[in-house]
Amino acid sequence: MSVTADVLVIGAGVLGASTGFELARRGHRVAVVDRGSVSREGSGTTAGNLHVQAVHTRRPGQDVPLDARRFLPLQKAASDLWEAVPDLLGIDIELVRTGGFTVAETAEQLQELKLKGEWEREFGVQTVLMDQDTVHDALPALGPTVLGATWCAEDGYANPLLVTPAYLNAARRSGAQITPHAPVTALSRDHNGWRADAGATQLHVGAVVDTAGPWLADVAALAGVVLAMAPLTIQMHATTRMPPLLRNLVQHIGEGLSIKQVTSGTILIGGGWPSGPIAAGSRTASSMASLMGNIAQAVRILPVLGQMRLLRSWAGPLAATPDEMPVVGAVPGLDDFYLAGGTYAFTFAPLWAQTLADLVEGKQPPVDLSGLGPDRLVIEGGDHGQEH
Ligand SMILES: Cc1cc2nc3c(=O)[nH]c(=O)nc-3n(C[C@H](O)[C@H](O)[C@H](O)COP(=O)(O)OP(=O)(O)OC[C@H]3O[C@@H](n4cnc5c(N)ncnc54)[C@H](O)[C@@H]3O)c2cc1C
Repeated sequence: MSVTADVLVIGAGVLGASTGFELARRGHRVAVVDRGSVSREGSGTTAGNLHVQAVHTRRPGQDVPLDARRFLPLQKAASDLWEAVPDLLGIDIELVRTGGFTVAETAEQLQELKLKGEWEREFGVQTVLMDQDTVHDALPALGPTVLGATWCAEDGYANPLLVTPAYLNAARRSGAQITPHAPVTALSRDHNGWRADAGATQLHVGAVVDTAGPWLADVAALAGVVLAMAPLTIQMHATTRMPPLLRNLVQHIGEGLSIKQVTSGTILIGGGWPSGPIAAGSRTASSMASLMGNIAQAVRILPVLGQMRLLRSWAGPLAATPDEMPVVGAVPGLDDFYLAGGTYAFTFAPLWAQTLADLVEGKQPPVDLSGLGPDRLVIEGGDHGQEH
C-alpha cells in the first residue's frame, strides 16, 4: 500500500500522539505509525507526573546530573499548556493538580531547596519553602526524618493510560491516519521529501518526525545519522486500592522518589530506580534491588505505606541522553527531519508537540531550544539528507 502525507510521525507514544494531533489540527495530512501497539512503551509505563517545581538532578545510579535550572522555563511552558489539554482532547484524562511537596532530610538538601527556590522565582514557578513544623502540619503523614520541603501548588499528574490514546483519538478526528504494527525499517530521500517503509505500507511524505522514544537513535540511523543516546529502563510500584489518604505528589530533592495516590485509590511509587538495559522485543523484568531501595525510601518518607500491600511492579523504557537533557529539534544535515525525546517527556508532551509542529512549519518554536538540539548528540552522518 502506498500513502502520501505531509508529515510522517514515527512512534505512537505520548510525543508522537501529541505531535500528530497538533499537526493534524493545524491542517496537515499526518500519518502516525508505530512498530507495535500504541502507548505501550515509555508512555504506557510512565508515572505520569507533571513536574512543575524543579526536579531532583539524579535518578539512582545516574552518573551525570541533569541541569535542573535549565529545565525550569521548559516546565513552566509545559505546565501552562497542560491546562488546556483536557478541553482540547474532549475527555477526562484524570488531570489532577493538587500540588506537590519536595522533601529534604539533610542540612545539605535544605540548602538545595533554597537554591532551587531562587531558580524557580527567576522563571516564574511559584513555590513555598516550608520548615520542619510547617511541612509536618501540612502533611502529618510525613516521617520524622523530613526536615523541610518546598510546596508547589501546580504540581500534579494525569492518567497516562488515558492521555496517549486520547491524543491519538483527537488526532484521528482531525484527520490523522494512525497505523500500529507498522515498524519503520527504511528511510530515504524522495523528491522533495522522504520515502519510508513501514510494515506493508510505503509512505511518501514531506517531513519526518522521529518520536521513537528509546529507539529514537535507531530511527535516525535509518536516515544515516548516528546519535548518542543512553536508553535504560526504570521501574514503578503500585499498592492495592486504598481509601483517600494522600492528595499531593511527594518527591525528594536528594533522591529519586515520587509518591502519589491516583484516582483509582492505588498509590504509585517511583523515582527512576533502574531495572537494567532494555530487553530486546520484550518487557524488562523489575529489579529486586531497586524495588527494595525504592520501597524502603518511600516508607521512610511516608511510614503509613509500610502497612500497605504491593499489588505490582513494572519496568518501562526511558530515552535518556548522555547529558540527561531532553533532545528536540531538526537533525543536522537531514532536510525536513525533526525529533524529540529524552527524560520527562510526559511532562513536556504538549510543549514538544507544539515545538515540533512549529519547526515543521518553519516557525519560531515557543521556547528557547539552545543546548537541547540533536547536534550535540551526532556521532556520525548528517550528510545523508540529499536526494538519491
Ligand atoms: C517508569 C517510568 C516513569 C516515568 N515517569 C515520568 C513522570 O512521572 N513524568 C514525566 O514527565 N516523565 C516520566 N517518564 C518519562 C516519560 O514518560 C517518557 O519519556 C515518555 O512517555 C516517552 O514518550 P515517547 O513518546 O517519547 O516514547 P515512547 O512512549 O517510548 O514511545 C516510542 C514509540 O516509538 C515506537 N517505535 C520505536 N521504533 C519504531 C520504529 N522503527 N517504527 C515505528 N515505531 C517505532 C515504539 O514502539 C513506541 O511505541 C517515565 C518513564 C518511565 C519508563
